[in-house]
Amino acid sequence: MGSSLLEAGMQAAVLTTPARITTHPLRIEDIPKPGLQPGHVLLRVRACGVCRTDLHITEGELPQRRKQLVPGHQIVGDVVDGATSALPIGTRVGVSWIGGIDGTCWYCKHALENLCDSPAFTGYTVDGGYAEYALVRSDFAFRLPAALDDLEAAPLLCAGIIGFRSLRVAGVERGERVGLFGFGASAHLAIEVLKHWGCEVYVSTRGETHRRLAEELGAVWVGAEADKPPVKLDRAVTFAPSGAVVIAALSSLRKGGVVAINAIHLDHIPQFDYDQLLWGERQLRSVANMARADARDFLQIAADIHMKPKITVFPLDQVNEALIALKADSIDGAAVISNLA
Ligand SMILES: [Zn+2]
Ligand SMILES: [Zn+2]
Repeated sequence: MGSSLLEAGMQAAVLTTPARITTHPLRIEDIPKPGLQPGHVLLRVRACGVCRTDLHITEGELPQRRKQLVPGHQIVGDVVDGATSALPIGTRVGVSWIGGIDGTCWYCKHALENLCDSPAFTGYTVDGGYAEYALVRSDFAFRLPAALDDLEAAPLLCAGIIGFRSLRVAGVERGERVGLFGFGASAHLAIEVLKHWGCEVYVSTRGETHRRLAEELGAVWVGAEADKPPVKLDRAVTFAPSGAVVIAALSSLRKGGVVAINAIHLDHIPQFDYDQLLWGERQLRSVANMARADARDFLQIAADIHMKPKITVFPLDQVNEALIALKADSIDGAAVISNLA
């Protein structure tokens, strides 16, 4: 590849001033292509999934960490520079929200890298994938199995991996009864894994569309948000940012069961009766970020079962519209930015 091509600019969606998404805070600009750094690979971006966190970053609900930022943290791309023996030129990889860890803190040294004290976040503390090119840490670029299509792999990289980690945190075993409370992007991928494991899935969720989708995807029982499944559950995962939903999940558990809370923020958890709801070695756990093993294991399962999430494709210059649609809940499935001509 000639140096002139490497030094050329690229199109990117740039955020300088977070604001309500309807004001189109992301501007499509020509900016310099990122220069190669040690330990990194340069990717030609094929596709990038759109996540609710991108909306929170763009609207300023998360504090601004860079004066100028390229968001996007579900990147599918090809290695075009900085190749290593593990990632030769042309290797197709996926990149997620965790873009790196320090490797030196107590958590990193105790095999708890998802809890690292100073992680890098793709598309937040470092530039992400709403661009033609992205520079990413080579040890956080996951080789994508050939069975996964570019566009369908993108939404797996955040929602999918974190949903899978939630099942691990809940301690799900094959054949168990598992409740999913809330049925958005993560849950509708997690149910595919649960069915693959022969689990019985019970879904409580808001919205007729979500309930219908849960039925189509094979839930054995579907109820409204606060409805309790008709049986005691072995495990439950809550996806709604609601403390009341956590209590509904907890009150559905058998003794020794686990609720995993997959929410970064939660409103107030109502006061609850310890003797009835937590006694009996029931556990309440939160799910934080992900480890690389979660990403690799989930992507392999997704390939094995030919996971095909529903997607709606937007070109890069329609990225604000994609986020508006996400906010309005007006698209079926996940939004994906595609750079494929
Ligand atoms: Zn995300
Ligand atoms: Zn660390």
